[in-house]
Amino acid sequence: MNKNLKVNLHVCEHCNYHCEHCFAKFGCKETLPIENWEMIIENVMQSGRVREINIAGGEPLLHPQMMDIVDAVRSYDIPVSLVTNGSLMTKNWIMQNAKKFKTIGFSVDALTPELQRSIGRCTGSGAVISAEEFGEKIILLREVNPEIKIKINTVVSQINKLDNLANYIQAWNVDRWKLLKMQIFDDGKHCNEGIAINDQEYDAYVNNALSALGIDFHPEKVLYQAGNMEIVAERQLRGGYLMIGANGFLLDDTKNSSYTKISDCQKESFHEGLKRLTFYEEVYASRY
Ligand code: SF4
Repeated sequence: MNKNLKVNLHVCEHCNYHCEHCFAKFGCKETLPIENWEMIIENVMQSGRVREINIAGGEPLLHPQMMDIVDAVRSYDIPVSLVTNGSLMTKNWIMQNAKKFKTIGFSVDALTPELQRSIGRCTGSGAVISAEEFGEKIILLREVNPEIKIKINTVVSQINKLDNLANYIQAWNVDRWKLLKMQIFDDGKHCNEGIAINDQEYDAYVNNALSALGIDFHPEKVLYQAGNMEIVAERQLRGGYLMIGANGFLLDDTKNSSYTKISDCQKESFHEGLKRLTFYEEVYASRY
């Protein structure tokens, strides 16, 4: 039994971007307040199987009590990380909060404004973050917290399959770059199947990215190393990601193209819920 699990709390569903591929859809427009998340975090920690918690969304910085949720995790003396689109991460925010995180992950699928807008990785008025702005945020995060790890998550779909971010990623000197093959998501209201890619297209993207970094591609390999940077090529995510949705439910992503509620973490023991979750330890382990 793995006692070193990382659990992802998707603390809100709403987002100021509208990415075509987005699978952060939990059917929950409400935002649970801090009291409920404290209860969920306590439940998760009582399982004795969790070593780290990641805060995600939607865009988690839109949760008005996000830093209270972070403090609640930190009260258990375990590392906390964050995945964000970066758009609300101001200098002030970094100055005040960067020290609280072990890792900050930015979702970056493209960097040219045109491609970001084609993906929907922009606000309603079309505002995007430039490569220079991401670079500045990363520099400041490291100034404020020299221990911090920087991660970039890139979802590869039909829209960006010919793009190559390797030179930017290398220039930012990030600690980890995850290349995720877009998973098909369809909950009856949101469907991203129209921009799905096949394995060959995904492999070509990974191959191009690795070539730019002087690394040989091997289709069966998940983890690569480029200097101090880890590159994770994730063709298959399902069943290897522990997720509590914005509704407080432990979710299973292996049953269909959306999420199946396994257990209400506000009512039932997380430990019991885990027993019913389809979770492939080898998929999970291949990424760490
Ligand atoms: S930034 Fe993330 S949460 Fe927001 S729409 Fe894009 S993929 Fe979804």
